[in-house]
Formats: sequence, C-alpha cells, structure tokens
Amino acid sequence: MSASTVTRLVIVGGGTAGWMAAAFLSSLFPARQLTLTVVESAEIGTVGVGEATIPPIQVFNKAVGIDEAEFLRATEGTYKLGIEFVDWLRPGHRYMHPFGQPGQAINGASFHAWWLRLKAAGYPHPLSDFWMSEVLARKNRFDFPSSDPRTPKSTLSYAYHFDAGLYGQFLRRIAESRSVRRIEATVGSVALDGADGTVSHLELTDGRRVEGDFFIDCTGFRGLLIGHALGREYEDWSHYLPANRAVAVPSERVAPPVPYTTATARAAGWQWRINLRHRTGNGYVYVSDLISDDEAAAMLLANLDAPAVGDPRFLRFTTGRRRQSRHKNVLAVGLSSGFLEPLESTSIHFIQHALIKFAATFPLAKDDPVSTGIYNRIMGEELEQVRDFLIFHYHANQRVGEPLWDRVRAMPIPDSLVEKMDLFRARGFAIFPNQTLFQEPNWLAVMLGQGIEPQAYDPLADTAPLEEIRSGFDAMRRTVHQVADSCRPHEAFLGAAPAAT
Ligand code: FAD
Repeated sequence: MSASTVTRLVIVGGGTAGWMAAAFLSSLFPARQLTLTVVESAEIGTVGVGEATIPPIQVFNKAVGIDEAEFLRATEGTYKLGIEFVDWLRPGHRYMHPFGQPGQAINGASFHAWWLRLKAAGYPHPLSDFWMSEVLARKNRFDFPSSDPRTPKSTLSYAYHFDAGLYGQFLRRIAESRSVRRIEATVGSVALDGADGTVSHLELTDGRRVEGDFFIDCTGFRGLLIGHALGREYEDWSHYLPANRAVAVPSERVAPPVPYTTATARAAGWQWRINLRHRTGNGYVYVSDLISDDEAAAMLLANLDAPAVGDPRFLRFTTGRRRQSRHKNVLAVGLSSGFLEPLESTSIHFIQHALIKFAATFPLAKDDPVSTGIYNRIMGEELEQVRDFLIFHYHANQRVGEPLWDRVRAMPIPDSLVEKMDLFRARGFAIFPNQTLFQEPNWLAVMLGQGIEPQAYDPLADTAPLEEIRSGFDAMRRTVHQVADSCRPHEAFLGAAPAAT
C-alpha cells in the first residue's frame, strides 16, 4: 500500500471558487504532503457577484478555521435567516423560505402535520407564525440557535450575506499564511500528456510554465481545463431554468439591514436584494428573448431602495452543468462545473460541497478512475435534486397571462419533481428520497408558499384531542413572538458601524 502520488496541486483561477479551494485544502493537507499553487489573472478578473449563502457555509468556515465575527467584519457581512419571495405565486403575494424548521415533531408526527389538522378545522394562524427564523427575520432581529430543545431558538438556523470579493481576499490571506503559492499570470494554453491524456502543465502568456499532478479548474464560465482542454460537455438545463442573463448594481446602504434576501418576481425574471453592512447588492436575472439588456437595466434601476453606486454590470450564463465535472487529473469547481442560477443561493454551497467530496475521494494517482467515478455520481445526483427545487419555484406559479410565467407553468418538468408535488398535495408529505441539501422544512416552506394545498394530513396528527392541540399551538405562538421580541435587533447584534460616507 502506498499514499497518494498526487503531491503538487494547481488551482487555476482566483475567484471565490479558487480561494475557497486553496483555503480548504491547505487546512486539510500540510504543505509537506501537498503543495498548493493558485494561478490567477488580474487581466481577466472574477465574476464579481455572489453575496448570499445557505447555512452549511458555517461548516465550511469552521473547517477552514475562520472566526465568525472577524469574517463578518472583513466581508461587510450580515446574517441571513431566509429568502422572501415577493410576487412569485401571483402579484401582491409574498412568502418566506426561512431556514431552520417551524417547530419540533409531536408524538411522531411532524409539526406541520398538526398545523394542517388545525387549519382544516379553521385555525387562522399561518405556519409562518410558528417558524422562529421567519418571525425573527420579519422583526429584523437576530440570535444564534440554542441547543435547549425547550426554546423555539432551538429551531433556528442561519447563513450570511457578504461581499464575495472581500470573502475571496479574506480566504487568500488564510491560504497564503499556510504556504499556498500565488502566481499572478494568465494561462495561455493547457498542455496534455500525449500518453494518457492528463494535463501535464500550464503555459502562461509570460512564457513560464506551471507543472502539477492534479489541477482544479476554477476559471469560471470559461472552463479552461475541463471544457477547452479536456472537452467535457456542458449539459444545458435552460429548458427548465430559462434565465440566461443578469444585470447587477450595488446601491447605497439602507439602515437597518434586514437579515434576509428578497427575490421579487418580474415579468421577464426576478430581482434580488441583499443588504450588506456597507451597501445593498441588487440584480435582475432575466430571459434575454423577453427583454433587452437596456430594458432590464432600466427595470432594475427603477426598483432600487436607494441610489445606485456605479454602473450596472451585465452577465451572461447558461443554466446547466458539466456532465463530468471531474475527469483525468482535473476537477472543475465553481462556475466551470455548472450554474443553476442564484435563486436559492446554492453556487457557493456547491463549491464547498465539491471540495468536501473531493477531499473524501482524493485521487490516489494522477488519473484515478474509481474516485473520479464515485465523485461524479455523488455531485450529479445532488445537482439534480437542487435543480428540481429551483424549477419548482418557477413552475408552480399563478401569474396567468405573462409569457415567461405561462411558459414555465406549462413546461414539462422532471418526473422526480412531479412525484414530490403529488406526495405533498396528497398528504402534506415533504420527506423525499436522496435529499441532502434541501430537506422537509425547505420543501414545506416553498410548496406552501407556491400555493400547493395538501388534501390530507398525517394520521399520526389525529392522536390528541383538537382542543388540546389548539391551546398548545396558541401558547407556542405567543412564546415564539415573545422570544423573538426579546432578541436584539439584527444591526445591534452585528455591531455594524454606520456606513462610511
Ligand atoms: P470567477 O469569479 O469567474 O473566477 C474565475 C477566476 O479564473 C478568476 O480569478 C479569473 O482571473 C481566473 N481565470 C480565468 N481564465 C484564466 C486564465 N486563462 N488564466 C488565469 N486565470 C484565469 N452564488 C451564491 O452562492 N450566492 C449568490 O447569491 C450568487 N449570486 C450570483 C448571481 C449571478 C448573476 C451569478 C452569475 C452568479 C451568482 N453566484 C452566486 C455564483 C457565484 O458568483 C460563483 O459561484 C462564485 O463567484 C464562483 O465563481 P468562480 O470562482 O467559479 O468564477
């Protein structure tokens, strides 16, 4: 038995993906075992967006050894308790996809099954009234989850909003302090080994060459190694997720910043709003055959909370994934491996997930088909699950008479999604096979929010008298609100300094 023969790893690209890879792998592998080099090109630059995350990022930051308070200060970060969807079901309607869960299971039945029973008996309060993360978010307050199951704070979960450029710089400092070597240069070409088709080295435009045993392609939408050099195909999912452009612009800080992202449906797509400490991130994600770039920018600028800072930036993308994001001695991480559009803030999550799975299937040799095969299977299945979740937001709409929304309501959807919708409609069942990222509470929030009404509830929720349940729920609702009122305002909690002027 021998250890891996991969001892020189080269990361191509210094965007969020590149520096997350360098920081994570340098926290796992000592430099004497694995040398890490990052090649990044100032000439080419980064995509420059990506400000909202989901709760598993805490796991990543802990693994890298990041102190939360320091990280939030360095990245102008705020807390995030969920996403508010405005006008997605129909104009004038809004709901939240909060993190965490609405309450603990009772007598073996999920909390929402009891609520469905009460609702069928005329109970007036929505499930969101019991969902601590949402109640807290709407009051613009914040606190950490508690490990005491008797308090509703035990149901909380949170993530962050941050400036992705600053996050990259923060990670770079960590990686460089752990001996990661950085080369500032543009890769002109990628040389393959004639014998086995693996990548042997990179030719830089300044004439230098960079050799390695294994390469991580973090070159963004370019996919310089995985696509151009190794010819791995891109599977286009735009028949399910039709947005293909975005225009983004920051606006001046609004005080106090709210601890949730807002996603507002528009005629040709949707608009995000993300409150950071020093500014607000805004963008309009749209379908280019329904609106011109100029019209999209005008729509975005007309719907800001505060004056824009700088000029709008346009981005083009095709939703989908690399059929094999790992091949030979190359792993694609970040936008080079695919993009599912930013609706549920999953891109940065997939970077971390790819890195964790890569570490778990670290190649024993330059070309290790066994590890490569299992890696591609795991990542492929998870992307499909998340794809279904995103498609659902579009598909289950009641915005009748609008071309985009009529189109996505009528489009054929994957069988796996049809099955999930049927199960939920039949009995409020939201535990689906192979769900690793978005689980029961996530589907529950979005299924109810997008207007799917369960026809029945779990019979286990019939095991106690109705009056007892009603008074228990009333007491719980009061407690959730009282506990939320006792939490500190989000901004005070952050200790956010007022915007520098
Ligand atoms: P990039 O940022 O494009 O970095 C590519 C790097 O490769 C750069 O350093 C570049 O210099 C380098 N490079 C390229 N070619 C060469 C070369 N030839 N030689 C040397 N270096 C090279 N994600 C979220 O999680 N949450 C969000 O809210 C979110 N919002 C988004 C909104 C939009 C509209 C878009 C398009 C994306 C969003 N994302 C979001 C995704 C997120 O921006 C990306 O996943 C993340 O920034 C990672 O990008 P990257 O590092 O893969 O690519």
